[in-house]
Amino acid sequence: MKYKEQKLNILKRLFNNVETTKLSGAMKEDYFEHTHLAENGFEIEFNNFQYIFDHLTSGIWMREEIQGDLVYASKGFEEILNLPLDKIYETPSLRFQMVHSMHKKEVAAHLEMVAEGKKVQMLYPINDGKGQKKWLLEQIIPRVKDDGIVTQIFGMITDVTHEMKIEEKLNFLAHYDSLTRLPNQKSLFEKLDHFCREGIKFSLLYLDIDRFHVINNSLGYQIGDEALKKIALRLSDLTPEEGYLARLNSNDFILVVKNYEYEEEVYEVADKILRSFEKPITIRDYVLHMTTSIGITFFPEEGEGRLTLLENAHTALYQAKRQGKNNYQLFSYSKDIPSYKKYVLDRDMRLALINDEFNLYFQPQVEPREGFIVGAEVLIRWQHPEWGDISPAEFIPLAEENHMINNIIDWEIEKVCAILHEWKVKGYRIYPISINISPMRFMKDGLVELIQKQLEKYDVEPHYLELEITESSLLKTDQTVLTILNELKELGVKIAIDDFGTGYSSLDYLRKIKPDTIKIDQTFINNIKSDSEIDKGVIASILFLGKRLEMKVVAEGVEEKGQLEFLKHNECDMIQGFLFSEPVPKEKYEKMIQVGYLKAVQKSKRKSGMRENRKFYRFELPLHIQGEMTIAEVNDQVVHVGSTPILIENLSLGGIRVLSNLKLPVNSNMKFKFEFKVLGEVIELYGRLRWIEEELPDVYSYGVLFRLNRTYEDYLARLINQMTTLRIKNQPIPNTEFVYEQVSSYFQRT
Ligand code: C2E
Ligand code: CA
Ligand code: CA
Repeated sequence: MKYKEQKLNILKRLFNNVETTKLSGAMKEDYFEHTHLAENGFEIEFNNFQYIFDHLTSGIWMREEIQGDLVYASKGFEEILNLPLDKIYETPSLRFQMVHSMHKKEVAAHLEMVAEGKKVQMLYPINDGKGQKKWLLEQIIPRVKDDGIVTQIFGMITDVTHEMKIEEKLNFLAHYDSLTRLPNQKSLFEKLDHFCREGIKFSLLYLDIDRFHVINNSLGYQIGDEALKKIALRLSDLTPEEGYLARLNSNDFILVVKNYEYEEEVYEVADKILRSFEKPITIRDYVLHMTTSIGITFFPEEGEGRLTLLENAHTALYQAKRQGKNNYQLFSYSKDIPSYKKYVLDRDMRLALINDEFNLYFQPQVEPREGFIVGAEVLIRWQHPEWGDISPAEFIPLAEENHMINNIIDWEIEKVCAILHEWKVKGYRIYPISINISPMRFMKDGLVELIQKQLEKYDVEPHYLELEITESSLLKTDQTVLTILNELKELGVKIAIDDFGTGYSSLDYLRKIKPDTIKIDQTFINNIKSDSEIDKGVIASILFLGKRLEMKVVAEGVEEKGQLEFLKHNECDMIQGFLFSEPVPKEKYEKMIQVGYLKAVQKSKRKSGMRENRKFYRFELPLHIQGEMTIAEVNDQVVHVGSTPILIENLSLGGIRVLSNLKLPVNSNMKFKFEFKVLGEVIELYGRLRWIEEELPDVYSYGVLFRLNRTYEDYLARLINQMTTLRIKNQPIPNTEFVYEQVSSYFQRT
């Protein structure tokens, strides 16, 4: 008895606020039964437990039977629930009332599991006694008797608000952009994937803040960041109710418009955005006038998946930029083949350097009497994986626009020095090499240092290197360029003025720059044959001028013997042109320098007029059919870019022959779609370009091969048959000149 009393006292203290009388008989029994404390010293042990319980930040509780009274709640409860313990004992259901309504169901379900004798752990938010939101982690352990009846329930709650906040933050960071607080790229991709999967019709607006780098570069990133935040806010305001706005990266935003009835509604959103930019953005003391360009694409019409849609929207955006920025463009408008090609070249240029797709060709320069080689101009070529050989005239202007030109030129300088070194090691006779330097490169620091470094690295004497700078670019010349040119000359590098005679430069520049070489532009040379006295006069004067100023003169674009004779007669120093050699690959040039001279060989004239073999006019189409061509696939990926006019020359079941004014890659991994009408029927064919011929100046003839399925083949065969019969009856074969004129004027029109 004494023993039992002692234990009861201890329990009393353990459950400090609970009246012993509140303890039910069963509970008392259990406690005594299960207390394995030694008789001596168990008071001390209980003291210890109580001490621990009361100081735990978690709350421990106990209840007898599932619906029974709360028999114990430790002090920790007070703080967690922000309620005095009395209250908790008085109204145990208060705790359930505190649970956020969204989680009530879940908590109730867990309690039911407890009633079935299962251990549970749950996480839920509450509003505590003072209305503060808290996250609680609660573990509940039922004690079950052999007969399966739950006799006691023990629980522990812990306040995990802090941990949840960290988790929420991490979650936020994973899905949102910390600067603008808009959904980030990851969220955007998930969202777009979801829309595509569910087949939800939407339009995607790809926004890029124009010239944003100028703000970053001139005012610093902090101002740039502030500007982006404000822009994000403005865009959020303009996002339609069911729309979605995300920040893709730096200054690119994506706006998704859903649930529109007419496409015009999407254009309205784009219009509103453009107009909203008319109001300047003020950050600290800066009033920033900004604009944005927008590319628009529609799902599912213009792409079945997220990647294609973004890519297409970007193509449209690119088009908007090219149209002078501050406007929006639709993908469907911007997808003519030349714009697409520009876009692809622009996109791939960076990779081209890494993938070694640029190649240097050498065009020898000779002295006019014996044809001895005296130097060469290095001309760049780009072998694009899909578009084949790209002319520098096509991609250098693009490179100047996207600033890749500097990397390209630096690469060329190193490459040329390395090659000169290689030739020296091989014991070849070395001639100077000239490199074309865009004026842009002079704007960037370090040109002189770079050249000096490469010359030293490859042990090349400076006078083997000549830099060509175009006359027209001198117009933009300021003092810094002159300083750089002088520094280069001091280094021993030679300077040439390219395309002389085409720009507006005054002779004053010649005095200031004192170039080593002047290159007479091709157009003057070209006009020698037409006996233009003015051009001949200009050439003779330049040659005279060169002599007086002790500058070498190179005549460019010399193609004919007559031109050579004239230049020789007027004592031109150097000749560069197809008459001696076209630009050739390095290996071929190496063979040339080993021989040391070249013979003047006038190339046969380009055959003018149509091909001799004209049998398809007789057997197939008497007149060309007008049609349209689109790029359907690149590398097996569907793109649908195009709508470029073509003329169909002939038509058979295995292929067609078409005319276009675009130079397109043959035997590439591009598939084209051809659309035209025959006898009122719309024909759609998919095929690849197998060969190309320049039919007229800037008009190319392509052989297209395709494979048709049986049904289509039968259908086409019937049409061809009908055409043949009709033609035999009705149509005379048109004469070549007539066709020739028609073709020329057709492409001039388009
Ligand atoms: P450019 O500097 O005036 O180069 C001469 C161009 O005339 C070259 O064209 C050359 O192939 C061509 N040519 C040479 N002889 C004849 C001829 O007898 N008849 C005709 N019809 N053409 C001739 P290409 O290689 O297509 O280069 C075009 C332009 O692209 C160059 O004009 C130059 O401005 C630029 N470019 C070429 N390579 C580079 C380069 O490596 N770097 C830079 N920055 N620009 C380059
Ligand atoms: Ca040149
Ligand atoms: Ca030139």
